[in-house]
Amino acid sequence: MNRVTQVLATTNEISLKGGNRKWFERTLTENVRRALADLPVAAVTRPAWRVLVSFSEAVDFAEAARRLHTVFGLGAIMAVEHAGFTMADLEAVIEPRLDGISPSSFAVRCLRSDKTFPLTSMEIECSLGRFVQGKTGWPVQLNDPELTIHILVDDNGLFTWTRKVPGPGGLPVGVGGRACCLLSGGIDSPVAAYMMMKRGMRLDFVHFHSVPRTDPASLDKVHDLVRVLNRYQGQARLAMVPLLEIQEQIAARCPTSLRILLYRRFMFRLAERAARRFKARALVTGESLGQVASQTIENMAAVEAVTPLPVLRPLIGLDKQQIIDIAKMAGSFELSILPHFDCCSFLMPENPATKSFADELDAAEAGLDVGTLVADALDRTDVHQIRDAVDWEEIPIPEEAAR
Ligand code: ATP
Ligand code: MG
Repeated sequence: MNRVTQVLATTNEISLKGGNRKWFERTLTENVRRALADLPVAAVTRPAWRVLVSFSEAVDFAEAARRLHTVFGLGAIMAVEHAGFTMADLEAVIEPRLDGISPSSFAVRCLRSDKTFPLTSMEIECSLGRFVQGKTGWPVQLNDPELTIHILVDDNGLFTWTRKVPGPGGLPVGVGGRACCLLSGGIDSPVAAYMMMKRGMRLDFVHFHSVPRTDPASLDKVHDLVRVLNRYQGQARLAMVPLLEIQEQIAARCPTSLRILLYRRFMFRLAERAARRFKARALVTGESLGQVASQTIENMAAVEAVTPLPVLRPLIGLDKQQIIDIAKMAGSFELSILPHFDCCSFLMPENPATKSFADELDAAEAGLDVGTLVADALDRTDVHQIRDAVDWEEIPIPEEAAR
């Protein structure tokens, strides 16, 4: 079934959230509508804790699934068919679907949210199971059958489906608060952003550059990464902060082995200021324990000592291959691996410190006028509102839907 007029999706963890449920559900519905804005959506309804999208004309299921796969909070995505209102209607819809396939076993699974329907779920399963078996002779197997015919009975009638695509999981973007993500042009930070959006956070971004010493084309790359991530949340702000003057001062006045850590302290101070402007309550980075010298536990603690905001590091326990796998799923990988001259690769020490402490870094930067450097960089910061997103073709189709 490639063209469909209805798609049903399960919700992931929403049922756990008690009092906030209405708000969660409203946010999820809005996010579904946003993701499907370029398809002919007639209605989005909520039967039996699920999301049912009805289209005014048939759409390609793979296209609908690709879009819904960017809506965190959805658990599974199904191509459904409306099957009337009675068991006779249901049988009439199912019968032609039995032609041309020969599964080694089958089962019928029913979910009934309309408690006024004359049969119970189990009666529906038995009755339809008998009907299918009578027509085909296929053996029933309740445990791991090759074909499962699913039925949903709700106020709008009967629905049936056999195909299911995994949804993205997570929580709807918007229910987890706001954070400000430090976005470089690399592989890791877009993945960190993806993971926090998946836990329901809405993100704005800050990027540090060393223009004119680094290529301004790198700024376009970061802009494009935000457009990839916008697929998951609609739009975002991006603060472009010049770091060159700060880097030059550090290079001229501070111990070489601590350079990177001192750059990073300024990044956190500046990101905190951007976060306040964005009304964000936390910072997000793509750090992963031990990946580079600045990412030892001592160095991370010594750097983050300059900000009272929580620093979220969703990649902390992942290794590179795991991060790359998520980058591919998120659609950011191809862009991240394009050549890029990061501000940290500039004025790099040969032997960066692997173990530092906050008081040591305080002493190292004692000769700098931190307040003025921060204020000056903020004065020259550009904030862009990025409302568009990459074309859907650049976001992968979830695997089973591609078939
Ligand atoms: P990434 O792949 O995200 O660049 P990385 O493995 O290269 O990460 P670092 O360069 O040490 O690691 O950076 C660690 C984190 O600090 C990044 O994941 C990102 O959150 C932040 N960061 C580094 N450079 C920048 C930058 N130029 N602008 C904004 N954030 C940055
Ligand atoms: Mg980097």
